[in-house]
Amino acid sequence: MSKMLKETARVMGRTAVGCAKMASVVFDAVGVYSLFRFFKRNQTIILMYHGITETASVPDNFDGRQVDATLFEHQIEYLKKNYDIISFDEYVNNEQRGILKEDRLNTHNRVKRQLTITFDDGYANNLYVLAPIIKKNNIPIIIYLPAGLIDNNEIYWSNKVSFCIGRTERKRIEFMAGAKRIVLDLSNPKSRISALITAKKTLFNISETDRKKAIFEIISSCDVDFRDNIDLRPMSWEELKKLKKQLGDLVSFGSHTLTHPLLSKISDAEIIKELSESRKMISKKLVKTDHLSYPFGDYDSRVITTAKRFYSSAVTTSYGYNGQGVDIFRLKRIPVSNNNGMFLFMLSLFLDLGRYSEFFIRVYNRIKLLFHD
Ligand SMILES: [Zn+2]
Repeated sequence: MSKMLKETARVMGRTAVGCAKMASVVFDAVGVYSLFRFFKRNQTIILMYHGITETASVPDNFDGRQVDATLFEHQIEYLKKNYDIISFDEYVNNEQRGILKEDRLNTHNRVKRQLTITFDDGYANNLYVLAPIIKKNNIPIIIYLPAGLIDNNEIYWSNKVSFCIGRTERKRIEFMAGAKRIVLDLSNPKSRISALITAKKTLFNISETDRKKAIFEIISSCDVDFRDNIDLRPMSWEELKKLKKQLGDLVSFGSHTLTHPLLSKISDAEIIKELSESRKMISKKLVKTDHLSYPFGDYDSRVITTAKRFYSSAVTTSYGYNGQGVDIFRLKRIPVSNNNGMFLFMLSLFLDLGRYSEFFIRVYNRIKLLFHD
């Protein structure tokens, strides 16, 4: 009976995905997307990417943060056709000077909705996989750098943990989260994904001292080599200079703090250090920067006040578009995940899914799983 139900669900899933894809093509053909773009023409889209990779389907990319290179090329092709892709600097300058979209339209005789592309964390794949695609397509991007991690040639702890749990050959690992023993079952792909989610959630919610001990325990028991992985480590200053030389004006840089902390959880003095030192370091070693990206999109009023002292804009991870006169220190973005494929990517460009985005993504991926089962 349950087999029959499963089969029915699978057929329904296939039909739903098929219908959605068909609807998407029809919408595009009859101009529904253009109509939405027209109504939202004064609202700028800021896309949030992390990395572009040639190995997207590894367990540690369960959250889809690294987008498959072929999918990215399709996305860029679609964006170039339908949007006016401008640099982040141009967008902020226009906002600051109060240049209305209508004025811009009159000046440039452009009718397309404007969009700008951002990358967080400065992964090394930005140089080796992303840069050639950017150059080929001649589009501008901004990359936000965790300056202190680059300076120390350090992989961010959360990525190290994902890599270890995602790639280890062990079938089970254990670690202490404070006084609590956590056991992770890695015996099959499904339980490995649950283990990745549990481990990350646990580590984010314990003290820094306990976290350090737990990370040490996890890494020592996983027995994997994560050193020279371009989807994991940030670029070095040398690589960043190479990237800048390769892309010229197509790339600009922003700060993603020094050590990628949760800014609202640290002291005033630490906030000042994270925001001012990172700006200084990037300006000294690479190029002057005026833009900030809050790690994890986390900020409070103290963070905003400090950001205003050192920067001229800041992006969050809040989902949404940015209308005229937006708060330039609370810019919203549309995250791009490898898990969304082309359909949800296009949907997110014309329909502000807002707080329902997670729900849509979950439902879509459930249906997709049925389809591929
Ligand atoms: Zn980040």
